[in-house]
Amino acid sequence: MAELFYDDDADLSIIQGRKVAVLGYGSQGHAHALSLRDSGVDVRVGLPEGSKSKVKAEEQGLRVVTPAEAAAEADVIMILVPDPIQAKVYEESVKDNLKDGDALFFGHGFNIRFDLIKPPAGVDVCMVAPKGPGHLVRRQYEEGRGVPCIVAVEQDASGDAFKLALSYAKGIGGTRAGVIKTTFTEETETDLFGEQAVLCGGASALVKAGFETLVEAGYQPEIAYFECLHELKLIVDLMYEGGLEKMRWSVSETAEWGDYVTGPRIVTDATKAEMKKVLGEIQDGTFARNWINEYNNGLPKYNEYKKADGDHLLETTGRKLRKLMSWVDDEA
Ligand code: NDP
Ligand code: MG
Ligand code: MG
Repeated sequence: MAELFYDDDADLSIIQGRKVAVLGYGSQGHAHALSLRDSGVDVRVGLPEGSKSKVKAEEQGLRVVTPAEAAAEADVIMILVPDPIQAKVYEESVKDNLKDGDALFFGHGFNIRFDLIKPPAGVDVCMVAPKGPGHLVRRQYEEGRGVPCIVAVEQDASGDAFKLALSYAKGIGGTRAGVIKTTFTEETETDLFGEQAVLCGGASALVKAGFETLVEAGYQPEIAYFECLHELKLIVDLMYEGGLEKMRWSVSETAEWGDYVTGPRIVTDATKAEMKKVLGEIQDGTFARNWINEYNNGLPKYNEYKKADGDHLLETTGRKLRKLMSWVDDEA
């Protein structure tokens, strides 16, 4: 079982005694920078000239300098720019500003796990990854609560890297909820697998295939949309609150019976065998290599897939139907 850590296990004064640079001020960056500051930590935000986020960070009372200046001033550097550009930001702004005894922090293990960033031996390399979007992380902190975090140490140069990471997690409210110890490898591989096989890839493909099956059989797209996409939220909310058990308790006995007998005909042994292949390609670096190549080539296939799905009848039907539902918030 996982090891859990709470407020009493973490010493906030450790991070209060350091100088922290938060590079990036997006979903995670704004939550980390503001909550660390409110926890009495010396924080500066690193953003390039012309960054859209700069005005926002300054309005919220933070000092903004360039990423290189932030890395030079600080002895704890948290990299919260998008994963595909972290290696470039590291090469250009961080690498030459690292001194022995500094610590390099991440919110996701991708660049370390796949050797895109190779920090020198004298620095601690840690991860503090909240298990929730940045806006929830910040809101929970402000309300005196926290979002659970996972924490890992890849390189313990100081001998105290885990204490430092726990202290940072306390600074953003993570230890109020609970912190789970993991490794960069476990976090990165399970995160990629989850989003590809289940949460994003698996769920979108399931919804699309169900919708297409009904429409190809002559049913109205509007009805197919409600059955295969809209109602999914209800089911997922029940699972989130009480697992499969609560979902099955809440739906009709007919739906529950259909779940037992039909589910395994849809997600079959062949599907699970493919999941194992997907996991293998994550573990051996194939997925990461292909994705970084695609990104560096200007995202040709990514844009093609995006366009194709944007024009799909499921999406055009949904755009129309959501206008009928005043309670559905279509804001990004
Ligand atoms: P966002 O896309 O929300 O934010 C990116 C930020 O980086 C923006 O402020 C952007 O500024 C800035 N930026 C872009 N280029 C540079 C640069 N060259 N130098 C400095 N800053 C730059 O990122 P996320 O918060 O989603 O992700 C950050 C990290 O957190 C990733 O590692 C991600 O995997 C991880 N994570 C994200 C979660 C989430 O909820 N989103 C959850 C857990 C982990 P500009 O305004 O100019 O574009
Ligand atoms: Mg992810
Ligand atoms: Mg029904």
